[in-house]
Amino acid sequence: MQPTTTPTDSFDPAHCGRDDVLALFQLPRAELFRRADAMRQAHMGDDVHLRGIVEFSNICANDCLYCGIRRSNPSPTRYRIEEDEILAVAHRMESWHQHTIVLQSGEADSPAENARIGRLIRRIKADTGLAVTISAGNRGHDVYAEWREGGMDRYLLRFETSDAALFAELHPDCTLEDRLACLRDLRSLGVQVGSGFMIGVPGETIDILADNILLCRDLDLDMIGIGPFIAHPDTPLKDKPNAYAGDPEMYFAAVAALRLVNPDSHIPATTAFDAIFPHSGRDLVLQRGANVFMPNSTPGRFRKNYLLYPDKPCVDEDDGECSSCAAARIWGLGRFIGEGPGHSVKPRG
Ligand code: SAM
Repeated sequence: MQPTTTPTDSFDPAHCGRDDVLALFQLPRAELFRRADAMRQAHMGDDVHLRGIVEFSNICANDCLYCGIRRSNPSPTRYRIEEDEILAVAHRMESWHQHTIVLQSGEADSPAENARIGRLIRRIKADTGLAVTISAGNRGHDVYAEWREGGMDRYLLRFETSDAALFAELHPDCTLEDRLACLRDLRSLGVQVGSGFMIGVPGETIDILADNILLCRDLDLDMIGIGPFIAHPDTPLKDKPNAYAGDPEMYFAAVAALRLVNPDSHIPATTAFDAIFPHSGRDLVLQRGANVFMPNSTPGRFRKNYLLYPDKPCVDEDDGECSSCAAARIWGLGRFIGEGPGHSVKPRG
Protein backbone atom coordinates (compact mmCIF):
# COMPACT_ATOMS: atom_id res chain seq x y z
CA MET A 1 0.00 0.00 0.00
CA GLN A 2 1.34 3.47 -0.84
CA PRO A 3 1.34 6.01 1.99
CA THR A 4 -1.24 8.69 1.51
CA THR A 5 0.38 11.38 3.60
CA THR A 6 3.77 13.02 3.79
CA PRO A 7 5.02 13.57 7.34
CA THR A 8 5.74 17.14 8.19
CA ASP A 9 6.89 18.82 11.35
CA SER A 10 3.26 18.57 12.47
CA PHE A 11 3.58 14.77 12.58
CA ASP A 12 1.35 13.69 15.46
CA PRO A 13 2.76 10.67 17.32
CA ALA A 14 -0.33 10.18 19.43
CA HIS A 15 -2.77 9.93 16.55
CA CYS A 16 -0.76 8.77 13.55
CA GLY A 17 -1.77 5.58 11.76
CA ARG A 18 -0.20 2.95 9.56
CA ASP A 19 -0.03 5.18 6.48
CA ASP A 20 1.78 7.88 8.43
CA VAL A 21 4.39 5.40 9.61
CA LEU A 22 4.79 4.06 6.07
CA ALA A 23 5.29 7.64 4.91
CA LEU A 24 8.18 7.97 7.38
CA PHE A 25 9.88 5.10 5.57
CA GLN A 26 9.59 7.07 2.32
CA LEU A 27 11.57 10.00 3.69
CA PRO A 28 15.21 10.36 2.67
CA ARG A 29 16.99 8.31 5.31
CA ALA A 30 19.23 11.19 6.43
CA GLU A 31 16.12 13.29 7.07
CA LEU A 32 14.38 10.49 8.97
CA PHE A 33 17.45 9.95 11.14
CA ARG A 34 17.82 13.69 11.78
CA ARG A 35 14.20 13.95 12.95
CA ALA A 36 14.52 10.92 15.19
CA ASP A 37 17.71 12.23 16.80
CA ALA A 38 16.09 15.62 17.39
CA MET A 39 13.03 13.93 18.95
CA ARG A 40 15.29 11.85 21.21
CA GLN A 41 17.18 14.92 22.32
CA ALA A 42 14.03 16.97 22.97
CA HIS A 43 12.32 14.28 25.08
CA MET A 44 15.12 12.17 26.58
CA GLY A 45 18.11 14.53 26.59
CA ASP A 46 21.73 13.60 25.92
CA ASP A 47 22.16 11.11 28.76
CA VAL A 48 22.59 7.48 27.83
CA HIS A 49 21.55 5.11 30.61
CA LEU A 50 23.66 2.02 31.13
CA ARG A 51 21.66 -1.05 32.09
CA GLY A 52 23.86 -4.08 32.66
CA ILE A 53 22.38 -7.34 31.44
CA VAL A 54 23.12 -10.57 33.27
CA GLU A 55 22.03 -13.63 31.30
CA PHE A 56 21.52 -15.70 34.42
CA SER A 57 20.21 -18.90 32.83
CA ASN A 58 19.77 -20.32 29.33
CA ILE A 59 17.37 -23.06 30.43
CA CYS A 60 14.22 -22.69 28.37
CA ALA A 61 11.00 -24.66 28.06
CA ASN A 62 9.99 -22.94 24.83
CA ASP A 63 10.78 -23.73 21.23
CA CYS A 64 10.54 -20.31 19.54
CA LEU A 65 11.55 -20.99 15.94
CA TYR A 66 14.18 -18.23 15.74
CA CYS A 67 15.98 -18.54 19.06
CA GLY A 68 19.41 -20.08 19.67
CA ILE A 69 18.54 -21.19 23.21
CA ARG A 70 15.26 -22.85 22.19
CA ARG A 71 14.45 -26.08 24.04
CA SER A 72 15.21 -28.34 21.05
CA ASN A 73 18.69 -26.99 20.38
CA PRO A 74 21.14 -29.48 21.96
CA SER A 75 24.21 -27.29 21.29
CA PRO A 76 24.31 -24.89 24.25
CA THR A 77 25.47 -26.29 27.57
CA ARG A 78 22.60 -25.40 29.84
CA TYR A 79 23.50 -23.32 32.90
CA ARG A 80 22.05 -21.42 35.80
CA ILE A 81 24.35 -18.91 37.51
CA GLU A 82 24.47 -19.27 41.30
CA GLU A 83 22.71 -16.55 43.29
CA ASP A 84 25.90 -15.50 45.10
CA GLU A 85 27.74 -14.99 41.83
CA ILE A 86 24.91 -12.83 40.48
CA LEU A 87 24.97 -10.82 43.72
CA ALA A 88 28.71 -10.32 43.35
CA VAL A 89 28.17 -8.86 39.85
CA ALA A 90 25.37 -6.66 41.17
CA HIS A 91 27.69 -5.27 43.82
CA ARG A 92 30.22 -4.23 41.19
CA MET A 93 27.72 -2.64 38.82
CA GLU A 94 27.35 0.76 40.44
CA SER A 95 31.09 1.35 40.14
CA TRP A 96 30.57 0.79 36.40
CA HIS A 97 27.82 3.49 36.32
CA GLN A 98 25.20 0.80 35.81
CA HIS A 99 22.22 1.68 37.99
CA THR A 100 19.93 -1.00 36.64
CA ILE A 101 20.52 -4.75 36.57
CA VAL A 102 18.61 -6.55 33.86
CA LEU A 103 18.26 -10.22 34.75
CA GLN A 104 17.46 -12.19 31.61
CA SER A 105 16.92 -15.90 31.08
CA GLY A 106 15.11 -18.47 29.02
CA GLU A 107 11.54 -19.21 30.05
CA ALA A 108 11.52 -21.76 32.86
CA ASP A 109 8.23 -21.37 34.68
CA SER A 110 8.54 -23.66 37.71
CA PRO A 111 7.81 -22.95 41.38
CA ALA A 112 11.49 -23.48 42.26
CA GLU A 113 12.78 -21.13 39.54
CA ASN A 114 10.13 -18.51 40.32
CA ALA A 115 11.07 -18.62 44.00
CA ARG A 116 14.74 -18.32 43.09
CA ILE A 117 14.10 -15.22 40.97
CA GLY A 118 12.00 -13.78 43.80
CA ARG A 119 14.86 -14.34 46.25
CA LEU A 120 17.35 -12.75 43.88
CA ILE A 121 15.20 -9.65 43.49
CA ARG A 122 14.89 -9.27 47.27
CA ARG A 123 18.61 -9.77 47.87
CA ILE A 124 19.62 -7.27 45.17
CA LYS A 125 17.15 -4.67 46.47
CA ALA A 126 18.34 -5.19 50.05
CA ASP A 127 22.05 -5.07 49.25
CA THR A 128 22.38 -2.49 46.44
CA GLY A 129 20.80 0.70 45.14
CA LEU A 130 20.13 -0.89 41.75
CA ALA A 131 16.85 -0.79 39.89
CA VAL A 132 15.87 -4.35 38.97
CA THR A 133 14.51 -5.35 35.58
CA ILE A 134 13.48 -8.95 34.93
CA SER A 135 13.20 -10.52 31.47
CA ALA A 136 12.23 -14.14 31.91
CA GLY A 137 9.16 -14.62 29.71
CA ASN A 138 5.49 -15.29 30.37
CA ARG A 139 4.33 -15.88 33.93
CA GLY A 140 1.03 -15.84 35.78
CA HIS A 141 -0.22 -12.71 37.52
CA ASP A 142 0.59 -14.13 40.97
CA VAL A 143 4.22 -14.75 40.09
CA TYR A 144 4.65 -11.23 38.75
CA ALA A 145 2.87 -9.92 41.87
CA GLU A 146 5.29 -11.81 44.13
CA TRP A 147 8.29 -10.38 42.25
CA ARG A 148 6.80 -6.90 42.37
CA GLU A 149 6.30 -7.28 46.10
CA GLY A 150 9.99 -8.17 46.36
CA GLY A 151 11.00 -4.94 44.66
CA MET A 152 11.05 -5.67 40.91
CA ASP A 153 10.97 -2.28 39.19
CA ARG A 154 10.63 -3.20 35.52
CA TYR A 155 9.92 -6.10 33.18
CA LEU A 156 10.95 -6.71 29.58
CA LEU A 157 8.81 -9.00 27.44
CA ARG A 158 8.81 -8.43 23.69
CA PHE A 159 5.60 -9.12 21.77
CA GLU A 160 7.98 -9.98 18.87
CA THR A 161 5.37 -9.29 16.15
CA SER A 162 1.96 -7.65 16.24
CA ASP A 163 0.60 -10.07 13.63
CA ALA A 164 -1.23 -12.85 15.51
CA ALA A 165 -0.90 -15.40 12.67
CA LEU A 166 2.83 -14.77 12.27
CA PHE A 167 3.27 -14.90 16.06
CA ALA A 168 1.57 -18.32 16.06
CA GLU A 169 3.91 -19.61 13.33
CA LEU A 170 6.97 -18.53 15.31
CA HIS A 171 5.87 -19.58 18.79
CA PRO A 172 4.58 -23.12 19.33
CA ASP A 173 4.21 -22.49 23.06
CA CYS A 174 2.12 -19.34 23.36
CA THR A 175 -0.15 -16.90 21.58
CA LEU A 176 0.13 -13.19 21.00
CA GLU A 177 -2.91 -12.77 23.25
CA ASP A 178 -1.10 -14.61 26.11
CA ARG A 179 1.88 -12.28 25.70
CA LEU A 180 -0.26 -9.16 25.69
CA ALA A 181 -2.13 -10.40 28.77
CA CYS A 182 1.22 -10.68 30.59
CA LEU A 183 2.03 -7.08 29.64
CA ARG A 184 -1.37 -5.97 30.97
CA ASP A 185 -0.81 -7.86 34.24
CA LEU A 186 2.56 -6.19 34.70
CA ARG A 187 1.10 -2.76 34.07
CA SER A 188 -1.72 -3.40 36.56
CA LEU A 189 0.90 -4.23 39.21
CA GLY A 190 2.65 -0.89 38.75
CA VAL A 191 5.71 -2.40 37.08
CA GLN A 192 7.46 -0.30 34.40
CA VAL A 193 6.75 -2.22 31.23
CA GLY A 194 9.13 -2.86 28.37
CA SER A 195 8.30 -4.70 25.18
CA GLY A 196 9.25 -4.60 21.53
CA PHE A 197 9.81 -6.77 18.50
CA MET A 198 12.29 -8.25 16.08
CA ILE A 199 12.79 -6.28 12.87
CA GLY A 200 12.39 -8.31 9.69
CA VAL A 201 11.44 -11.70 11.05
CA PRO A 202 10.69 -13.98 8.07
CA GLY A 203 7.10 -13.36 6.97
CA GLU A 204 7.09 -9.74 8.14
CA THR A 205 5.73 -7.18 5.70
CA ILE A 206 6.29 -3.45 5.87
CA ASP A 207 2.65 -3.09 7.00
CA ILE A 208 3.38 -5.42 9.93
CA LEU A 209 6.48 -3.40 10.78
CA ALA A 210 4.39 -0.21 10.85
CA ASP A 211 1.79 -1.97 13.02
CA ASN A 212 4.53 -3.17 15.40
CA ILE A 213 5.60 0.43 15.91
CA LEU A 214 2.02 1.53 16.48
CA LEU A 215 1.38 -1.32 18.94
CA CYS A 216 4.32 -0.06 21.02
CA ARG A 217 2.61 3.31 21.17
CA ASP A 218 -0.80 1.81 21.97
CA LEU A 219 0.69 -0.25 24.82
CA ASP A 220 2.11 3.01 26.23
CA LEU A 221 5.43 1.30 26.90
CA ASP A 222 8.03 2.67 29.29
CA MET A 223 10.84 0.91 27.41
CA ILE A 224 10.93 -0.44 23.85
CA GLY A 225 13.61 -2.83 22.64
CA ILE A 226 13.79 -3.73 18.97
CA GLY A 227 16.54 -5.43 16.99
CA PRO A 228 17.02 -7.16 13.66
CA PHE A 229 16.16 -10.83 13.33
CA ILE A 230 19.37 -12.81 12.66
CA ALA A 231 19.09 -16.41 11.44
CA HIS A 232 20.65 -18.89 13.86
CA PRO A 233 22.15 -22.00 12.21
CA ASP A 234 20.69 -24.38 14.84
CA THR A 235 17.09 -23.29 14.38
CA PRO A 236 14.31 -24.05 11.87
CA LEU A 237 14.76 -20.53 10.44
CA LYS A 238 18.43 -21.09 9.67
CA ASP A 239 17.99 -20.53 5.91
CA LYS A 240 15.57 -17.63 6.15
CA PRO A 241 17.03 -14.21 5.47
CA ASN A 242 15.89 -11.11 7.28
CA ALA A 243 12.94 -9.54 5.44
CA TYR A 244 15.12 -6.45 4.84
CA ALA A 245 18.37 -8.27 4.05
CA GLY A 246 18.59 -6.30 0.80
CA ASP A 247 18.32 -2.97 2.61
CA PRO A 248 19.89 -3.27 6.08
CA GLU A 249 19.49 0.46 6.67
CA MET A 250 15.82 -0.40 7.22
CA TYR A 251 16.83 -1.68 10.66
CA PHE A 252 17.85 1.85 11.59
CA ALA A 253 14.82 3.34 9.84
CA ALA A 254 12.67 1.15 12.09
CA VAL A 255 14.32 2.57 15.22
CA ALA A 256 14.01 6.12 13.91
CA ALA A 257 10.30 5.71 13.14
CA LEU A 258 9.84 4.02 16.53
CA ARG A 259 11.29 7.11 18.24
CA LEU A 260 9.09 9.49 16.25
CA VAL A 261 5.96 7.57 17.27
CA ASN A 262 7.13 7.00 20.88
CA PRO A 263 8.82 10.27 21.91
CA ASP A 264 9.18 9.59 25.64
CA SER A 265 9.88 5.86 25.86
CA HIS A 266 13.34 4.58 26.76
CA ILE A 267 14.77 2.93 23.63
CA PRO A 268 17.95 0.84 23.93
CA ALA A 269 20.53 0.43 21.21
CA THR A 270 20.24 -3.35 21.18
CA THR A 271 23.12 -5.80 20.89
CA ALA A 272 21.88 -7.39 17.65
CA PHE A 273 22.85 -4.19 15.79
CA ASP A 274 26.49 -4.81 16.67
CA ALA A 275 26.23 -8.39 15.39
CA ILE A 276 25.30 -7.05 11.94
CA PHE A 277 27.40 -3.87 12.02
CA PRO A 278 30.40 -4.81 14.19
CA HIS A 279 31.72 -2.03 16.47
CA SER A 280 29.43 0.64 14.99
CA GLY A 281 25.84 -0.66 15.02
CA ARG A 282 24.87 0.48 18.50
CA ASP A 283 26.61 3.85 18.06
CA LEU A 284 24.53 4.48 14.95
CA VAL A 285 21.33 3.49 16.75
CA LEU A 286 22.16 5.95 19.53
CA GLN A 287 22.35 8.65 16.84
CA ARG A 288 19.05 7.59 15.27
CA GLY A 289 16.66 7.58 18.20
CA ALA A 290 18.02 5.42 21.04
CA ASN A 291 18.98 6.62 24.55
CA VAL A 292 19.92 3.45 26.45
CA PHE A 293 22.88 1.07 26.19
CA MET A 294 22.83 -2.41 27.74
CA PRO A 295 26.38 -3.66 28.33
CA ASN A 296 26.72 -7.38 28.75
CA SER A 297 27.50 -7.93 32.44
CA THR A 298 27.26 -11.72 32.33
CA PRO A 299 30.35 -13.43 33.78
CA GLY A 300 32.50 -14.27 30.75
CA ARG A 301 32.51 -18.06 31.01
CA PHE A 302 28.73 -18.31 30.46
CA ARG A 303 28.48 -16.08 27.41
CA LYS A 304 29.14 -18.58 24.64
CA ASN A 305 26.13 -20.55 25.83
CA TYR A 306 23.75 -17.63 25.46
CA LEU A 307 24.00 -17.20 21.71
CA LEU A 308 20.51 -16.17 20.67
CA TYR A 309 21.90 -15.50 17.19
CA PRO A 310 25.34 -15.87 15.56
CA ASP A 311 28.09 -13.22 15.78
CA LYS A 312 26.82 -11.95 19.11
CA PRO A 313 29.52 -9.50 20.23
CA CYS A 314 31.56 -9.58 23.44
CA VAL A 315 31.37 -13.34 24.07
CA ASP A 316 35.12 -13.46 24.73
CA GLU A 317 35.06 -10.61 27.26
CA ASP A 318 34.26 -10.38 30.94
CA ASP A 319 31.64 -8.38 32.84
CA GLY A 320 33.39 -5.05 33.55
CA GLU A 321 35.02 -4.84 30.11
CA CYS A 322 31.74 -4.23 28.30
CA SER A 323 31.02 -1.37 30.63
CA SER A 324 34.22 0.55 29.96
CA CYS A 325 33.83 -0.07 26.24
CA ALA A 326 30.24 1.25 26.38
CA ALA A 327 31.36 4.38 28.24
CA ALA A 328 34.04 5.11 25.64
CA ARG A 329 31.51 4.71 22.83
CA ILE A 330 29.02 7.06 24.49
CA TRP A 331 31.61 9.74 25.18
CA GLY A 332 32.86 9.34 21.60
CA LEU A 333 29.41 10.40 20.43
CA GLY A 334 29.54 13.54 22.58
CA ARG A 335 26.86 12.11 24.89
CA PHE A 336 26.86 11.55 28.66
CA ILE A 337 26.36 8.57 30.92
CA GLY A 338 23.08 8.84 32.79
CA GLU A 339 23.29 8.81 36.58
CA GLY A 340 20.43 7.70 38.82
CA PRO A 341 18.07 4.81 38.18
CA GLY A 342 16.83 5.98 34.77
CA HIS A 343 13.21 5.18 35.52
CA SER A 344 10.39 5.78 33.08
CA VAL A 345 9.86 9.42 32.22
CA LYS A 346 6.18 8.88 31.41
CA PRO A 347 3.67 10.60 33.66
CA ARG A 348 1.72 7.87 35.45
CA GLY A 349 -1.44 8.62 37.40
N1 SAM B 1 12.85 -15.73 27.60
C1 SAM B 1 12.63 -14.34 27.64
C2 SAM B 1 11.63 -13.90 26.59
O1 SAM B 1 11.26 -14.71 25.74
O2 SAM B 1 11.19 -12.76 26.67
C3 SAM B 1 13.89 -13.51 27.50
C4 SAM B 1 14.99 -14.10 26.67
S1 SAM B 1 14.70 -14.06 24.90
C5 SAM B 1 15.97 -15.11 24.36
C6 SAM B 1 15.23 -12.41 24.53
C7 SAM B 1 14.96 -11.90 23.14
O3 SAM B 1 15.91 -12.43 22.23
C8 SAM B 1 13.64 -12.25 22.51
O4 SAM B 1 12.64 -11.38 22.95
C9 SAM B 1 13.93 -12.13 21.01
O5 SAM B 1 13.37 -10.95 20.47
C10 SAM B 1 15.46 -12.09 20.93
N2 SAM B 1 15.97 -13.08 19.97
C11 SAM B 1 15.97 -14.42 20.11
N3 SAM B 1 16.45 -15.01 18.99
C12 SAM B 1 16.77 -14.02 18.12
C13 SAM B 1 17.29 -13.99 16.78
N4 SAM B 1 17.55 -15.12 16.13
N5 SAM B 1 17.49 -12.79 16.21
C14 SAM B 1 17.23 -11.65 16.89
N6 SAM B 1 16.72 -11.62 18.13
C15 SAM B 1 16.48 -12.79 18.76
